[in-house]
Amino acid sequence: MTHDLEVSCRCGKLRGVARGVSPSLVNRAVCYCDDCQLFAFYLGDTDEVLDKFGGSEICQMSPTHLEITDGAENLACVRLRPKGLYRWYAGCCNTPLANTLTSAVPFVGLIRPGIKGVSEASVGPVRMRIHGRHAKGGAQAAGAHPKAPLSAAFGILLKLLRRRFAGEHKRHPLFDPESGRAIVKPRVLEAKELAEVEQARERWLHTG
Ligand SMILES: [Zn+2]
Ligand SMILES: [Zn+2]
Repeated sequence: MTHDLEVSCRCGKLRGVARGVSPSLVNRAVCYCDDCQLFAFYLGDTDEVLDKFGGSEICQMSPTHLEITDGAENLACVRLRPKGLYRWYAGCCNTPLANTLTSAVPFVGLIRPGIKGVSEASVGPVRMRIHGRHAKGGAQAAGAHPKAPLSAAFGILLKLLRRRFAGEHKRHPLFDPESGRAIVKPRVLEAKELAEVEQARERWLHTG
């Protein structure tokens, strides 16, 4: 049985759907990496996005599930570094929505709270907690793998190859199928901006 999950920013201007998802089609993970934390700090949205150890919950799936239905003009994209992930959010209210790689990779990671209705029934249990070495309090406190287990990486690679052969990267709603360009030009943070975001994270790491 599959589910259609609502995707929406906090103010409701940007809406979409993750169609036809199921526990076998989604890899539900919590990522504690510094980069995901910095994205939350960039948006000024840490309370709702990060757990107390700094983890972001991400539902990884084929991009073919995702459709933006309303308010696409509010879609914004940032790259923390020139070669960083494409990090998508709703510019109207700074709600984080998704991570992607380039148009060549049939992958999208939808971030809570942008995706609604996440449950064991709809997308399965949290399958992995990764990059715990960046967690506040460390990997052990967060109950996370210090890096990413090789078996997980291998499984994901196989899935990506299978989707790529099926041409699913050509049906990525966040990239133009012809040019391969992101549908919104990503803004790459300037060194000064990145340093400010890093300082905000540092302060948080050393409080409470
Ligand atoms: Zn909004
Ligand atoms: Zn991460």
